[in-house]
Amino acid sequence: MFFVVRSGQGQSVLVEESVPKAKTKIEWCDYTINCFWGCEGGCPYCVARKIARRFGRYIGNRRGYASDIVQRMAEFKPVFLPDQLERISEISKPSRIFISEMGDWCGIDVPTEWSEQALSTMRRYPQHTFITSTKQPQNLLKFQFPDNCWVGIAVTNRDMAQKALAVFRNVKATTRYLMCEPLLAPLGELDLEGIDLVIIGSQTNPYRPPKIEWIEEIARAADREQKAVFVKNNLQSLVAPAIMSYASKSLGLPIFGLKHDFALRQQVWIYFCNPVW
Ligand code: SF4
Repeated sequence: MFFVVRSGQGQSVLVEESVPKAKTKIEWCDYTINCFWGCEGGCPYCVARKIARRFGRYIGNRRGYASDIVQRMAEFKPVFLPDQLERISEISKPSRIFISEMGDWCGIDVPTEWSEQALSTMRRYPQHTFITSTKQPQNLLKFQFPDNCWVGIAVTNRDMAQKALAVFRNVKATTRYLMCEPLLAPLGELDLEGIDLVIIGSQTNPYRPPKIEWIEEIARAADREQKAVFVKNNLQSLVAPAIMSYASKSLGLPIFGLKHDFALRQQVWIYFCNPVW
């Protein structure tokens, strides 16, 4: 049984779906597999914690988990759910699969064996691309990553970004990306060498968008080093006026002062919200 929280008309509801139908709401992924549940990160803006406290006990009981697992799910304490990992076998078409929205796969108090088990499953399904993200980048140094694993580090401010970029220099992975979500402060000058992609998103609950200048600064850094940028849907209303202003000029003066053709392509990605990497 796969549970998805759908929201509409200001309310969240829990929906039970089979994996092939349970498409993720994350616009750059096809599915989310929540085999890691719970986190000791303590981020005040954590949406997963709210969902766990509201639905964790119900979901755990419906799946027939042992009472100690159910308790940990309800309290948002780290727990590994290998049965969810096995659900990948139900996805036949090559897909982008995010692991996991309900916890940090390399987080505090997450045993190395859990993360290793996830990596070994990724190796069993080379037809899929597995997208991971952690806020504990130092833990990434323990692992070897298969080519179909995108290794992401989530940052919200300059200190976290600098730490992430330093760790990335020692992480051997085919695709490394910086997830600037929720972007809560300017990241300042960035050296994105070794990074393949930057994703930028907003805090959503409550909605607290970054300043457009912070996005601009990241886009410029990415442009300088010819890196891809993806701005998430939750920032479209913020970036749309800048894009419209660019479109109205439309004489080779890309928005944000970006100069290369590559920069133009980045803005097209932003505009259509359609990643093509
Ligand atoms: S690291 Fe992620 S899952 Fe953990 S508390 Fe922070 S936002 Fe929540």
